[in-house]
Amino acid sequence: MKIIKKNVFEGLVDELIENDEREIIGVQSKDSKYVFDRLEKAEGLELDYDVTILPPKKYFMPQRETLVEYETREGLEMEPVNEVIPRIIIGIHPYDLEAIKQMDKVFADSPKDSNYLEKRENSVLIGVNMQQTSDWSFAGSMGTATVDDGYDLMLTDLGKKYAVEIGSSKGSDLLEKISEDVRDASPEEIDKVEKAKEEIKDEFDKELDFSPQKLPSLLADTYDQDDFWEENAEDCYSCGTCNIVCPTCYCFDVQDFSDISLEEGERMRQWDGCMLEAFAEVAGGENFREERAERYRHRYMRKGRYLYNRFGDIACVGCGRCSSQCVPDIADPTDIFNKLWRGKDE
Ligand code: SF4
Ligand code: SF4
Repeated sequence: MKIIKKNVFEGLVDELIENDEREIIGVQSKDSKYVFDRLEKAEGLELDYDVTILPPKKYFMPQRETLVEYETREGLEMEPVNEVIPRIIIGIHPYDLEAIKQMDKVFADSPKDSNYLEKRENSVLIGVNMQQTSDWSFAGSMGTATVDDGYDLMLTDLGKKYAVEIGSSKGSDLLEKISEDVRDASPEEIDKVEKAKEEIKDEFDKELDFSPQKLPSLLADTYDQDDFWEENAEDCYSCGTCNIVCPTCYCFDVQDFSDISLEEGERMRQWDGCMLEAFAEVAGGENFREERAERYRHRYMRKGRYLYNRFGDIACVGCGRCSSQCVPDIADPTDIFNKLWRGKDE
């Protein structure tokens, strides 16, 4: 573990903004909320935030992107497209780092998604341990309040200085730029970091009543409780917001857009969400999750069971974004999972 003064870190960020070819992204406040956005100056960084509106996945899987451009003038010619902007992203909380790790696995699975993977390879992730928690978060219950890996550098605020853990050669290359101002952490400073990490785990207002490892079997056992799913989905607007803000939701829709001559066009993908009515509609107009309650159940099954069965991770990192943004307040995973847990023996 290393120690750097805050003004040295800010100097490094300003120097990167000024002279590095990569785009520098950082957490900033906007209309009393927090967002990941392009940084103009290091002083704009807000590293003691609670949660951002959207997770940093938007940099690896943009809301809308072109995958292929094509021409048909002399037979079909297709050109793959991937707009990769190398970036350094500063201020990622541990639960979002865990979500990125999960997305890395999903997109590296066969067939590999090079549009996502190349953007990830060209990014540097600077994490920060939480100083405050969102009222909706339950990362403490999901084991994502702290992480041991998934970052290139990890900062912990120690007053006028940061403790810095190095997670990769990309991270150590960055620190190399200020090597004269970097020193080893003392045993007391290492203890302080460990204590801060332990303490944050108890700072969450929301929690699961049971171990998240029990979710896959709980959800398998409660899949057929139609009355439960219908009752809880009753007020759902099918707006898809809970999908859009989630760091582990990655579904997309692919569409072709041709010009009027049909001689050229592009294939694009854009974010989609399983809570939207048309998500499961297929050719011929058939919809295999036509009912709101089916879509509502599917989202929870996917978070706590389906992706676990496929990739070995519970696909909810407890950020609380879904519940904080749901207008009828019916998207809180702790609420639904705890109700299912309490009712399982009835
Ligand atoms: S659960 Fe809430 S956020 Fe999600 S689709 Fe329904 S109304 Fe929208
Ligand atoms: S389901 Fe909700 S709490 Fe869980 S990771 Fe997604 S947005 Fe965060």
